[in-house]
Amino acid sequence: MNIININSTMTLTPAQISFIQSIMIFGEDDHWAEDDFVHLTQDIPIFLLTAHSMPHITPLGHSRYDAKRNAYTTDLPKFPLDRKPPMEYLGFFDSGYPLLGHPKPIIVLCPERIASCAQNDDELMMLTAIVVIHELAHAKIWVDGQCRYQPGEDTFSHWMEESFANAMTLRILRRYDRRHDRWMRSVGRRDMTTAAPLANTLIRRVAEFAENFMRMQPEPYRLGAELPNRLVSRFWYRWAREKGQLENKTEEKENWLNYVTTHLGNLDTERLEELYKAIFSRDNAFEIYRRRRGQ
Ligand SMILES: [Zn+2]
Repeated sequence: MNIININSTMTLTPAQISFIQSIMIFGEDDHWAEDDFVHLTQDIPIFLLTAHSMPHITPLGHSRYDAKRNAYTTDLPKFPLDRKPPMEYLGFFDSGYPLLGHPKPIIVLCPERIASCAQNDDELMMLTAIVVIHELAHAKIWVDGQCRYQPGEDTFSHWMEESFANAMTLRILRRYDRRHDRWMRSVGRRDMTTAAPLANTLIRRVAEFAENFMRMQPEPYRLGAELPNRLVSRFWYRWAREKGQLENKTEEKENWLNYVTTHLGNLDTERLEELYKAIFSRDNAFEIYRRRRGQ
């Protein structure tokens, strides 16, 4: 991972970095494709910004000029225990940030904001990882889209994009939890000292923490925690590939949006599948993806 601290008062600790790496290694199912998270972190730098340098993409935690200190300061809001901010308040992915004259994909994190949403060190470690993986999911959707088209920030695209990014994050974290647990048990049986260097990856149930967090986020994010895994595997890639070609699907998009906004917390998998199928009926992009990966 290529982490560059621009002006944050905090940095990512070696323990946090190795936790994120361990999630990417255990959590993804194959590591030989150009769009896997380990590859993406080699290509996409992660910048750390302090809160007052973060763009105001949410109405939360705006900075103000403190004349006495001649500096900008940000009052980080305290979130009620049952409400969490959108992921983009904590970090974001930009597919075309001008770096040395060329548009480059970057990820930005705000460690101060992440810390303000964590109750202790373990939560800070988990939440940092969750934000990184969520932003990498946006990056993966962008890389796989190929058409390089970014849809405007209409409500439909926002709900689709954020719910898939959260759902893909959860999928990786769940797989990490399962594999890591199995691995730790097998190491424990052989020789516990082997596990000592990985003591900082001993956090368990990061998926459970992430799911709880997402369920308290704004609704498009919450949808990600409620999407059945089967639909995520089947349709995220089609969203990536086809998001630029959905202008004529006005009715289908409206039907999907109406359903998810009114049935959140009570989604019917069959009905949902029909609605996704109606939107992505153009071709079999998923099959192309599987063939490309030789699956
Ligand atoms: Zn996002």
